Amino acid sequence: MRGRFAPSPTGALHLGNARTALLAWLQARAAGGAFVMRVEDLDFGRVRAGVMETQLDELRWLGIDWDEGPGVGGPHAPYVQSQRAERYDDALRVLAARGVLFECACSRRDIAAAASAPHAGEEGPRYTGTCRERRVDPAAPSLMAHGRSVLALRMRVEPGDVCFEDWLMGRCCFGPADETGDFVVRRKDGAAAYQLAVTVDDAAMEITHVVRGGDLLSSTARQLLIYRALRLPEPAFLHVPLMLGEDGERLAKRHGSVSLGELRARGIAPERVTGWLAATCNLADEGEIAARDLIPRFAIARLPRDPTVITAAMLARLAG
Ligand code: GLU
Repeated sequence: MRGRFAPSPTGALHLGNARTALLAWLQARAAGGAFVMRVEDLDFGRVRAGVMETQLDELRWLGIDWDEGPGVGGPHAPYVQSQRAERYDDALRVLAARGVLFECACSRRDIAAAASAPHAGEEGPRYTGTCRERRVDPAAPSLMAHGRSVLALRMRVEPGDVCFEDWLMGRCCFGPADETGDFVVRRKDGAAAYQLAVTVDDAAMEITHVVRGGDLLSSTARQLLIYRALRLPEPAFLHVPLMLGEDGERLAKRHGSVSLGELRARGIAPERVTGWLAATCNLADEGEIAARDLIPRFAIARLPRDPTVITAAMLARLAG
């Protein structure tokens, strides 16, 4: 059993990210498995210098450790996506050989969106299929363009539902052909799109259990299409509900002290944060409890399936 957390160094880690990281770590540790940390830094326009180090430091502060990843190394190094272009190139050439890729001169906006994991409300319009017949030459020596300006590559999506069993959400079905259509796997700047990179890396790093935020549930269908086209073994998925503010919006700065950095700077103990996070998902009563002491309490059956609404009173109990 191998789990992972895959932060993008584009901004501060907030309580929602911290809960997902904690649950991914608890799932792996409770099963006696290995835990991998992988940095997803391919969204060059949004990645900020120093943020990766800060995020990793905050995760360690919270009590999360990793067996493989930045600062530790491991058999699947490097664990930073910007250093893994060759793996994405190999995968693209296999996909090209299987006839599922085509070149596409589509809009800048579509391609920019493909750089990051699409969080709630960030999915673009469905691709209309204009360039579908522009097949890619599988004999091309390289399909990654390393910073050159190129045409994007999309993967063809055939009609029909893609279904999977989510450990928490149960059976889920999506119709990617209707929802997003053929999707971008290589961006116009030559780098791998999120959907390709995440799949290639989870497979290469032999991840057996993908625990991540619930807003990526529909991305799973596209990733399964990549797993199948590459004939890679599929991991199990567990999508953790999002944290929302009282207004029903994704938890954000305007709701109060929600970033780990801010809580830490205010002198809040990490055990208080992990205890509070555990209480939001029924693993403990609110109070101080270290991440490692939550391992024996981890139980999927106790986790909520609906988004967790974080009230001002709850935040005040954490940081008031
Ligand atoms: N790097 C992605 C994010 O921070 C996570 C992707 C994943 O866990 O699959 O949103």
